[in-house]
Amino acid sequence: MTTLIDNVKIFTLGDQGTIENGYILIKGDRFQEINAGHSTINCDKKIDGQGMVVLPGLVDCHTHLMEYATAELHQTQGPAQKMAGIANLLTALKSGIVAVGEHHLGHPVLSQTTKEYQEITNDLPIDVKLATGCCFIGTDPLTLVSAAHPGRIIDKDKDLTDEVIKHMAINSDFPGESIFLNATVANLPLSVAPKAGQITFKYEKIKNFVNIFHACGKKIGAHIEGDIAAEMFINAGGDVIHHGHGISKQVAGLMAKQNVSLVVTPHGGTSSKPLSPEEVYQFYKLGVNIAIASDSYLPAHPEAAWLDLPQDYLVGPEDFLKITSPFLTYFLDQGEPLEDVLELITVNGRRLLSNSTENGTITPGNQADCIICQQIPGIETIDTTTIKYVIKNGQPVVVRN
Ligand SMILES: [Zn+2]
Repeated sequence: MTTLIDNVKIFTLGDQGTIENGYILIKGDRFQEINAGHSTINCDKKIDGQGMVVLPGLVDCHTHLMEYATAELHQTQGPAQKMAGIANLLTALKSGIVAVGEHHLGHPVLSQTTKEYQEITNDLPIDVKLATGCCFIGTDPLTLVSAAHPGRIIDKDKDLTDEVIKHMAINSDFPGESIFLNATVANLPLSVAPKAGQITFKYEKIKNFVNIFHACGKKIGAHIEGDIAAEMFINAGGDVIHHGHGISKQVAGLMAKQNVSLVVTPHGGTSSKPLSPEEVYQFYKLGVNIAIASDSYLPAHPEAAWLDLPQDYLVGPEDFLKITSPFLTYFLDQGEPLEDVLELITVNGRRLLSNSTENGTITPGNQADCIICQQIPGIETIDTTTIKYVIKNGQPVVVRN
């Protein structure tokens, strides 16, 4: 099967840069040729782009669409929980997202295993990378759950053995929220999670987690707010900080030095005020590798003033452009090249999710995932219906006429 996308402006975000008017040839599930001008080649399928823009598919490298969102958004359980997870993934795909960094953290009631989550996502036309971990919820006393013990609350000292940590490491596809170094407020009101933000582990235990993950050949990520937890994680050799709300410029400098990446969640995810576009830009200029993610489904933190979101509204993948846009436009206003700015919601997240050399750019030989849009998403528009095509593995999977 060959597909030709013709008459488009192409942001390859790769070696070929931006092509003002060109074509993309796809063979099977791979990009074959990208060039300026037009192609007269005979193809099985031809898409006339009519001057629209093409860029790599969007990547949301931090989501909770299949476990926590199913219970909270849809109130589903058992076999219906699967359906809710798939419905959420479809919402992501329809929003132009071709890959998500999803989580299995364990849940006090839902008892699906990591294997079951993997089975659900195997044949879907969206890449679902799964991070397995354990999660501290900031109730009083703290509630601890883990992917290794789905469906029950566990004990920090008895249940988190080296064997269990190894189990999580082996099953983890990417460095998501493997451990929570601060208890999370999750989707609860602060009154129900009064201990949100509290430090959960001592340095030795964090170091043990990191060592076991690394011994299994896996990178490790952590849910973090504030300098104390961030510094412990960096010193322990951790790889990816998720949220990082409330961390200082000094600690961000340390992250850059130790090559620790930051997954920014613009509208919330911890008890602290989320990082503002100005702060994230400062960290970026210090050399921190940054990707922006939605942490869906999640209500907005009351102090995320740069976002105009209704109170208690659960932000999902359909809002990915809306919540990332203030950051993208701020970076652009500071004079950053458009291509570098677009990487924050595409290839940077892909690099975190991928353990291969595949980088998500529109480059011959790469997996043919891209979106064809009327306007530049996140910059010129936040309306996902302006994304006319979502192409996954070389096939149009969303087509809006
Ligand atoms: Zn999260």
